Amino acid sequence: MDQNHIYSRLGVHPFINAADSYTTIGGSRMPPEIIEAMRQAAEHFVELDDLHDRIGERIAALTRNEAAMVTSGAAAGLAIAVAACIAGDDPVKRRAFPRLNGLRNEVILHRCQRNGFDRAVAQLGVTFAEVGGDAGTSVCDLEEAIGPRTACILYFDTSAFIRGALPLAEVIRIGRLHGIPVIVDAAAQLPPVDNLWNYTQQGADLVIFSGGKTLQGPQSSGLIVGRRELVRMCRMQAGPASDTVGRPMKVGREEMAGLLAAIERYLMQDHEALRCRHERVVETFCRELASLGYKGVREYPGPTGQDYAYAMFDMRGASRTAETIMRLMKDGDPAVLIGLARDGTDQFFLNPLHVKDEEIPLIIERFKALG
Ligand SMILES: *Cc1c(COP(=O)(O)O)cnc(C)c1O
Repeated sequence: MDQNHIYSRLGVHPFINAADSYTTIGGSRMPPEIIEAMRQAAEHFVELDDLHDRIGERIAALTRNEAAMVTSGAAAGLAIAVAACIAGDDPVKRRAFPRLNGLRNEVILHRCQRNGFDRAVAQLGVTFAEVGGDAGTSVCDLEEAIGPRTACILYFDTSAFIRGALPLAEVIRIGRLHGIPVIVDAAAQLPPVDNLWNYTQQGADLVIFSGGKTLQGPQSSGLIVGRRELVRMCRMQAGPASDTVGRPMKVGREEMAGLLAAIERYLMQDHEALRCRHERVVETFCRELASLGYKGVREYPGPTGQDYAYAMFDMRGASRTAETIMRLMKDGDPAVLIGLARDGTDQFFLNPLHVKDEEIPLIIERFKALG
């Protein structure tokens, strides 16, 4: 890499991402037109509130939703969406966070869906009401958890978290019945592109996506789509006003413009061609690595249940563990990050999502060099 490149000057080592849209490595890579949109946004001063509204309207129209709002990430989106369900448009309630005694301060979620992003919501001062157990979840479990303090129901639509949970359609039906909003965390659930409108068309009240994963927008961006009235309330919980719980999650004009450009680009893409491209890359990885003695298979759906294939390699009984391979690949030149199976088995995977065509031979060469 160029000696003057910022990463060279800092002594920080970049690598090829054959793993996934992991937040810890930067999420994804912004195409030039998105960087250009951010550059243009940075050139001038504007009323941030106006920009928020105009971009929200534009994204809503593009994604076939009643309303939309840019956030500083999906985790921020979760916090803001829940805050909106608690405070509505009441300015007194809005200033109550995180002391919510006497307010609707309970968030219902499935026990099997508890995960690290709960912290983003917990900081509001809510209490969690868990439903379901090891044996699964019944409609009665959910019905019984709903009470006068219920603010909303949170649902994580990620394949790792839906086993043992009620189907989303069932959760939406019960939420409707009781007038309780259902918030869906779909941060990484693209493709299919239709998910941008499918959840809301199914009846989810607010749906949250990451801007910096499959959408390839700025890493510090995210998206809330959903019912007009609720999105308006979300807007009241976030910056630029200084007295909101969402103020530390403010969105800059560059991120707003970048996310809009990313969504425009994503919707314009030929998704069928992209799907075929990913299949071809998976096939290439499996074939080329088979000639080096690796046992690979096509896996589908994607790592968190998305509509694309990736390649999984089984190292059980082999001389090296998947973890050793990962370390060697990461230490090589060029460095390559590969994924480790989420279920903890001795397997690694190669994901086509963030691999450029010209990086494919480099990855294969690196495997050859391992011997
Ligand atoms: C990545 C992810 C988030 C957080 O997304 P950010 O945009 O990085 O804030 C939240 N929930 C799930 C399920 C995720 O996969």
